[in-house]
Amino acid sequence: MAQQENRQDADVVVLGAGPAGYVCAIRLAQLGKKVTVIDRAEVGGVCLNRGCIPSKALIYAGSLYEKLSHAAELGIEVTGAKVNLPKLMQWKDGVVGKLTGGVAQLLKANGCTFVAGEAKFTGPRALEVKTASGTQTLSFNQLVIATGSRPAAIPGVEIDQQRIVDSTGALSLREIPRRMLCIGGGYIGLELGTFYAKIGTEVTVVEAFPNLLGMVDSDLTKVVQKGLEKRGVKIRTQTSVKSCKAGKTGVEVVLKSGDKEETAQYDVVLVTIGRVPNTESIGLDKAGLKADAKGFIAVDAQRRTSVPHIYAIGDIAGQPLLAHKGSKEGIVAAEAIAGLKTAYDIVAMPAVIFTDPEIATVGMTEAEARAQGVEVRVGLFPFAANGRALSVAEPDGLVKMIGDAKTGRLLGVHIVGAEASNLIAEAALALELGAMVEDLALTVHAHPTLPETLMEAAEATLGHAIHIFQRKPRAAQAQTSAHAQPGRS
Ligand SMILES: Cc1cc2nc3c(=O)[nH]c(=O)nc-3n(C[C@H](O)[C@H](O)[C@H](O)COP(=O)(O)OP(=O)(O)OC[C@H]3O[C@@H](n4cnc5c(N)ncnc54)[C@H](O)[C@@H]3O)c2cc1C
Repeated sequence: MAQQENRQDADVVVLGAGPAGYVCAIRLAQLGKKVTVIDRAEVGGVCLNRGCIPSKALIYAGSLYEKLSHAAELGIEVTGAKVNLPKLMQWKDGVVGKLTGGVAQLLKANGCTFVAGEAKFTGPRALEVKTASGTQTLSFNQLVIATGSRPAAIPGVEIDQQRIVDSTGALSLREIPRRMLCIGGGYIGLELGTFYAKIGTEVTVVEAFPNLLGMVDSDLTKVVQKGLEKRGVKIRTQTSVKSCKAGKTGVEVVLKSGDKEETAQYDVVLVTIGRVPNTESIGLDKAGLKADAKGFIAVDAQRRTSVPHIYAIGDIAGQPLLAHKGSKEGIVAAEAIAGLKTAYDIVAMPAVIFTDPEIATVGMTEAEARAQGVEVRVGLFPFAANGRALSVAEPDGLVKMIGDAKTGRLLGVHIVGAEASNLIAEAALALELGAMVEDLALTVHAHPTLPETLMEAAEATLGHAIHIFQRKPRAAQAQTSAHAQPGRS
């Protein structure tokens, strides 16, 4: 990449080259801005290097291994399948390398200058960057903060990335642990826990709260929980970790559940109790900024902070901490800097959890809609009634659709099942376009496909799904419109 000789005259600086920062930089360059991107590590941020991509590569491989192990049920006998973890990690690293290399090339092709170094503010328009060749100062007209987040730590539990690991360590283990404890039943713990369970590890998940995946509709989490239990994963809710100490042969953990305490040994303990924004060591005060109590930076609809020439995007700009949310914010901030009329005003923010089966949600949950006093109509359609799901041996799952009973408007779609990660795109588009539940029911879906479950869930919401029996509500027998047909209200 082109090295910048005079770093005093940067027009726009993007601080952090994760999915928020690099997308923002490329959009800025497309709009004719002179962009300097700074990152202390590799381009691609957590997502490409230590998050979304490596985890999904491992999860894919774990699923392939599990499928091979159960192929005999389909009349395909595979013997001798085994996991070579170092080789699998090497393949995963190759996937990461291709993507990060591609991002570096895109930044270069768009004329962005990349500075490898750790940066912090020294004033509202100045940064100090520690690079391998010394400390440099850099002034700028506008700046976008995209410094992301890191795993939250448990006080007193030391992450050594060997026996006690966070998500980064869990993505690079060299040996398959015999017993693993996942502390935290959120999405990262369950995704990685499922991967290790699939390749033969005895996994236990402890969660301090009463439910796994706290914010997700329990109709969905029940299916995932069953999948975990089927794979021998032990789930201990309302259980916390009192202490966790690594020794030569393993980790001794004291678990506390109510008044009861018990001591157990694991080969590896994975700590995934959440993530914290990287805002405390970048000298925010020097820029005239202050993070909130949780470390997030407040922004307006253009992702502008309280200092008008400084923007903030991605994980540091608050929930949800998702790559695609950060990328969207990156585009909005870039367009605002370039003077375009733009705003972060999305209707639909999909979220996917790559458990087995996968969970994907967009829009309001039933509980959220009811809490807002909306009279809802709910339709459920099981994967077990879909021809494609059965013919690809994926019968577990359901689509849950939430509609507004008064207006017929689609409010939310929640899927647990195979390919939920891909199925949710149709629901996101429908919500973004302000679709009625009826629009999804009226759209012809190709057969036999998994997206038919969405069409049938819409029909179920209206009370007339074809492939499940729905008792006709007496009051609505003669009516056909979404507005009049009760599903489950
Ligand atoms: C295991 C795991 C799995 C995940 N899976 C998914 C998923 O499937 N889908 C999804 O949407 N999200 C997923 N996420 C979350 C996703 O990775 C983050 O939401 C996303 O990376 C945030 O992007 P960002 O650009 O805001 O920050 P980051 O990706 O964190 O990038 C920030 C960058 O800033 C740099 N930086 C920080 N401070 C400085 C400094 N002072 N000077 C210079 N550089 C600095 C860092 O080196 C980093 O490269 C996952 C996360 C993890 C950990």
